[in-house]
Amino acid sequence: MIASLPTTVRAAVMTAPGRELEIKAYPLLPPVTGGALVRVTCCTICRSDLHTWRGRRPGPTPAILGHEIVGEIAALAEDVTHDSAGQPLAPGDRVTWTLHSSCGECYYCREHQLPMKCLELQKYGHDACDQPPHLQGGFAEYCHISAGTSLLKLPDNIPDTVAAPLNCAAATVVAGWDAAELKPGEHVLIQGAGGLGCYAAAMASFAGAERIIVTDIHSERLEFVRRFGATDCINVASLTDEQIANWVRELTGGFGVDCAMEVAGVPAVVPAGLASLRKGGRFVELGCSFPEATTSLDLSTILWNLLTIRGVHNYDFRHLQQAVDFVSQTIDRFPFDELTSRQFKLEDIDQAIAAAEQNGLGRVAIVFD
Ligand SMILES: [Zn+2]
Ligand SMILES: [Zn+2]
Repeated sequence: MIASLPTTVRAAVMTAPGRELEIKAYPLLPPVTGGALVRVTCCTICRSDLHTWRGRRPGPTPAILGHEIVGEIAALAEDVTHDSAGQPLAPGDRVTWTLHSSCGECYYCREHQLPMKCLELQKYGHDACDQPPHLQGGFAEYCHISAGTSLLKLPDNIPDTVAAPLNCAAATVVAGWDAAELKPGEHVLIQGAGGLGCYAAAMASFAGAERIIVTDIHSERLEFVRRFGATDCINVASLTDEQIANWVRELTGGFGVDCAMEVAGVPAVVPAGLASLRKGGRFVELGCSFPEATTSLDLSTILWNLLTIRGVHNYDFRHLQQAVDFVSQTIDRFPFDELTSRQFKLEDIDQAIAAAEQNGLGRVAIVFD
């Protein structure tokens, strides 16, 4: 089945935090039982890859980073015939997949439907690559999909660079609005106008939210997020929390927003988000996915105002499916292609990481021939 495939393939390997990645060759093994082998066509660099590379998040080495991956099926294990949505799968099909594989049987998988917290969890682009099958990250020409991963065939109208961030950024934002129980006609506040903020605004707009207020400290990002359905953009660079909350109340009939979502990855913005909610409002914490993300809160705000705070980390398969459907349906309405603005080859991975660290507009993609 894999006769026409190469015997060795290249990967960019992290050997220590902060050190230049090394291009290494690995043997290409057949797919594992219940899994698949994918030829990677594109992998976008996520902020969490940068956290790992910088050593801000502990991770094993040597490792192949990159989890926002798309590719084509190169080979399927004999027992894999369909994707997780029930569509038949064959070599050559373009696919995305959940960030993680889960066992389906442990305490969290079975009793609490939290596959992203599976006790046997394995995440792409996170584990050491010194043991077979080696290739489980996106900074490599091929990727082994484990059993317990949900594969999803991609619609033809979503190009690779648009599809790559869907299994992380977009699916997590879907999970965020799901946790917030966003309803049509509601007012929302999105804290942060980066890629996550753009998805959040577009999804809120599509879901029928009325006021979609976005805050950030970069005016060019605030201009950009308007094209994703933001109705009101506030540059909060020189505003106090109270001034921010007053702005939001002014835009929402004096009451405040129904839900707020933190996607800036800045702990200090959370008090302003909470202060901007109406009584009974819901807050989703999604951006601060790194240790020691601390801030100081007046708990009486939460108590007196009957607020709900939900933490969202990753997602389950239905959120990925919804993210892919959403982008496929609205690809002519929102400029998703502009969210990934720069492309590099695997051999230029260090330049790609440097570009991603500049924190400018748009994600950086590694693309393969
Ligand atoms: Zn990510
Ligand atoms: Zn499990």
